[in-house]
Amino acid sequence: MIIKSSSYAVSAVKESQYPKDNLPEIALAGRSNVGKSSLINTLLKRKNLARTSSQPGKTQTLNFYMVNDDFYLVDVPGYGYAKVSQKKRQEFGEMIQDYLETRPNLKGLIILIDSRHEPTKDDIAMYNYAQYLNIPILVVCTKMDKIKKSQVNKVMSGLKSKLDLNYDHVTVLTFSSVTKLHVAELGDWIEDKISD
Ligand code: GDP
Repeated sequence: MIIKSSSYAVSAVKESQYPKDNLPEIALAGRSNVGKSSLINTLLKRKNLARTSSQPGKTQTLNFYMVNDDFYLVDVPGYGYAKVSQKKRQEFGEMIQDYLETRPNLKGLIILIDSRHEPTKDDIAMYNYAQYLNIPILVVCTKMDKIKKSQVNKVMSGLKSKLDLNYDHVTVLTFSSVTKLHVAELGDWIEDKISD
């Protein structure tokens, strides 16, 4: 996919605030600090479009970015941030659930997982939930530049032990915003889903 343009479009916490121009959407979810903003900026070749989180968990809205006047990337707030209150976490949950369950424009979900750790409880819950909703999933193992070659198999077996990768609509990709590993493949997956 060739990125011609990208811009911040809108933030939303409920359906009435979602974009109304009926373009396909690809959502990105992951725990705070997983490298989600960095991935968005890397993919879109922007330095600071998605704000990298010096304050993890701060973004509490769905942030829509328009790409190529063609589709939206939807940045879902990072989950699993301890300092957010129970009530706030519940609200996040409902906001994300509403979006994932009711949005016909949603064509795929990218779940980011830090390759230095096995999937967390939240990662597994998000994966199982998206699978249950039959949403195409791309699992992205982030920060692969921090993984030694000899440890790559371990990352994959950790993933397989926690996630049901037999799901028909899942693809797994290793990724690094530092080395740009698999950024083209990431774009290809998105292109495929939005043109389905
Ligand atoms: P977010 O909270 O998921 O949006 O995560 P950020 O994109 O803000 O990244 C969190 C931290 O991880 C920052 O210090 C980034 O510089 C760092 N980071 C993100 N991606 C990578 C990567 O691919 N490799 C390395 N080494 N660090 C990364």
